[in-house]
Amino acid sequence: MRRVYLDHSATTPVDPEVATIMMTYYTEKYGNPSSVHGFGRESKQALEQARNQVAELIGATPKEITFTSGGTEADNLAILGIAEALRKKGKHIITSCIEHHAVLETCEYLEKNGFDLTVIPVDEEGVLSIDDVRKALRPDTILISVMHANNEVGSIQPISEIGKLAKEQGIVFHVDAVQSLGKIPINVEEMKVDLMTVSGHKIYGPKGVGALYVRKGVRIVPLVHGGGQERKRRSGTENTPGIIGFGKACELAGQRMADDAKLQKKLRDKLMNGILERIEYVKVNGPLGEKRLPNNVNVSIRYVEGESLLLSLDMLGIAASSGSACTSGSLDPSHVLLGMGLIHEIAHGSLRFSLGRQNTEEDIDYVLEQLPKIVERLRMMSPLYDQVIHSKQLNKE
Ligand code: PLP
Repeated sequence: MRRVYLDHSATTPVDPEVATIMMTYYTEKYGNPSSVHGFGRESKQALEQARNQVAELIGATPKEITFTSGGTEADNLAILGIAEALRKKGKHIITSCIEHHAVLETCEYLEKNGFDLTVIPVDEEGVLSIDDVRKALRPDTILISVMHANNEVGSIQPISEIGKLAKEQGIVFHVDAVQSLGKIPINVEEMKVDLMTVSGHKIYGPKGVGALYVRKGVRIVPLVHGGGQERKRRSGTENTPGIIGFGKACELAGQRMADDAKLQKKLRDKLMNGILERIEYVKVNGPLGEKRLPNNVNVSIRYVEGESLLLSLDMLGIAASSGSACTSGSLDPSHVLLGMGLIHEIAHGSLRFSLGRQNTEEDIDYVLEQLPKIVERLRMMSPLYDQVIHSKQLNKE
């Protein structure tokens, strides 16, 4: 059976070049980077090279990069670290309603512990407005945390405008760039960002490694205390092979970004238009064109359940993801789709396809061949769809 992986926003395979270099640091060059001997120095040198590679991809300096165990930890470190550092200055935090849970839950945790939280809405395309951010500002606002690109619908946020506003107001600005890294250009200077979260496994690097960019001069209180690694910002022996793999993945992403984006945009549009042409009652979620990540397709297919679609696709070897938060064991519709104004019933029938480097035209053809058949079969079992067909016939008569 053909296998088509279209869930690259969940995770990507590790690039073979990345895997090869990592293996060396597991089996041959395994020194602890804090050790003074040759083995240690060898690891330390490679660690610093990785720091350079990550910094370069986002326009930062290496000293501004703190390695973490992934995007979730970096989001926590940014938000909790600033809240703790600026507790005496103010207690108001601004975020958006489409953030990843790593940001939302962390902000909500702070809200339960004496901070005030304003959650900015988004429009029907999943994009927030700078005016809403401006309106939310208070004299005691200490942090604005907004993602660069959304993981479900691929909407790209006006980061530079928010950065400008935050800078004018002297407010720390954190950006979760886990989904945009390596897909669209990032420059922390131009975007006027103070803190930025990135992660390895979305860019053909390993899982369990990420980083937080911390602008020079911005103070954060660490979450993890111990041996004082990572300039005292994140104690614990560094995941050297993982970090080195992440660095290599950043280097490759920088080299391949333009070509990857070109190909993925073509496949994205082919898939999106193909679904719209072949299936009735479909809505595209998120913006079109340049305001959307090159690799994201998100559609709501009416009169079918997203989970049933996913299972049927999976049986045919196609991996996608749905608009329901099944991570929590529940099937609640996604907070992102609801935040964009979708009603529960439509949000439930949502599918996300996220493209990657290995995908081909043939992969898309296969999905376009199988998906309409699946939808037709599932709709045949839907009492709601039955009513729709019935009333259509009555209208004709
Ligand atoms: N932020 C966003 C936007 C994400 O999409 C993800 C992962 O899906 C994360 C944060 C968490 O990153 P990690 O899986 O590295 O903890």
